[in-house]
Amino acid sequence: MRISTEKLLLFTSDMLVAAGAARNEATQTAEHLVLANLKGHDSHGVVMAPSYVGNIKRGFLDPKAHSKIVKDAGGVVLIDGCAGFGQVVGREATAFGIERARQNGIACVGLRNAHHLGRIGTYGEICAEANMVSIHFVNVVGHEPLVAPFAGAERRLQTNPFCAVAPRRNAPPIVLDMATSFVAFGKVKVAFNAGKKIRDGVLVDHNGVPTNDPNVMFSEPGGAVQPFGLYKGYGLALMCELFGGALVGEWTMQPEHERTGTVINNMLMLILNPDVFGGTERFQHEITAMVDYLHETQPARGADRVRIPGEPEREAMAERSVNGIPLDDRTWSELVDAAKSAGMDVAEIANYSG
Ligand code: NAD
Repeated sequence: MRISTEKLLLFTSDMLVAAGAARNEATQTAEHLVLANLKGHDSHGVVMAPSYVGNIKRGFLDPKAHSKIVKDAGGVVLIDGCAGFGQVVGREATAFGIERARQNGIACVGLRNAHHLGRIGTYGEICAEANMVSIHFVNVVGHEPLVAPFAGAERRLQTNPFCAVAPRRNAPPIVLDMATSFVAFGKVKVAFNAGKKIRDGVLVDHNGVPTNDPNVMFSEPGGAVQPFGLYKGYGLALMCELFGGALVGEWTMQPEHERTGTVINNMLMLILNPDVFGGTERFQHEITAMVDYLHETQPARGADRVRIPGEPEREAMAERSVNGIPLDDRTWSELVDAAKSAGMDVAEIANYSG
């Protein structure tokens, strides 16, 4: 099915309100999730909402929590997300960091103990709107590992996202926003939900043998997701673990820490004002010239054109804003079940389908 942005937003927001969130936090969270769907990242869209409802019920997500400053050293600030909606506390931490970067030229913000932050690119895009550069190292804790280290047949890491965003004058920002696993885990779930095979290179089975079957991530003995780029992606995942998790969050995937089945993100965020480096003029001139240079590359055989990071998401958004957001049957039925468990009645839910 395809569903309009407006209906999906309202359904998700109503579901979170029924689960115990206030309207403001529910709407902020729903907007973030639906934006991920619009940008083509269904893995970080509304497919996550049922787990949010479940985590509110289990007491792992506090829908009313806001961020708290733990340590303030001017340019370096440590913020506790208090297990609130990541989409709410992540936005608060980003806004705070932007203010500090305006004052100091650079801000280093550590956000720890946020419930799932969703699509990390959103925080980078908020920085870019304020004409700031941003770099994000994120780790994921609270549940069993999913990703094998390079040359390993066992899960030891999470999908630890890395994001770097450069603002552009009179043009959309450059947004490199990626899981350090071959794909974000939600994409394996989306393939599993749709009963589809996953592409080569993403998964190995419990012996470390490559497989295209997403079932290995949802059955025993389990397989693992591979890091992207062999040992280089594995190395970046480790640095997300150490900077996002150890430096900021005090939690990494090592087994001393509890794994309750929740999803907690810890994020180290560097926000830089281009004015205090070589100056915005030079920076923007170089970005424009470099982007033009790349766009003018002759396409490889079979490719239509060279893109800049962030462009595929804008293309998806242009299409989905017009034609609606695709949802497979399994995702829809999980959303309906989550809405029922949150207390919405069947007639109310039926208003949102289609
Ligand atoms: P992806 O592989 O689809 O894209 C990664 C990056 O590559 C993007 O910046 C994209 O613009 C760029 N890109 C894609 N195709 C391109 C092309 N043809 N030319 C140039 N650039 C191109 O994304 P992913 O790794 O599957 O991650 C998806 C999302 O999952 C991200 O938004 C990430 O923040 C999110 N995520 C979140 C968590 C979490 O715990 N909160 C964990 C993992 C991933």
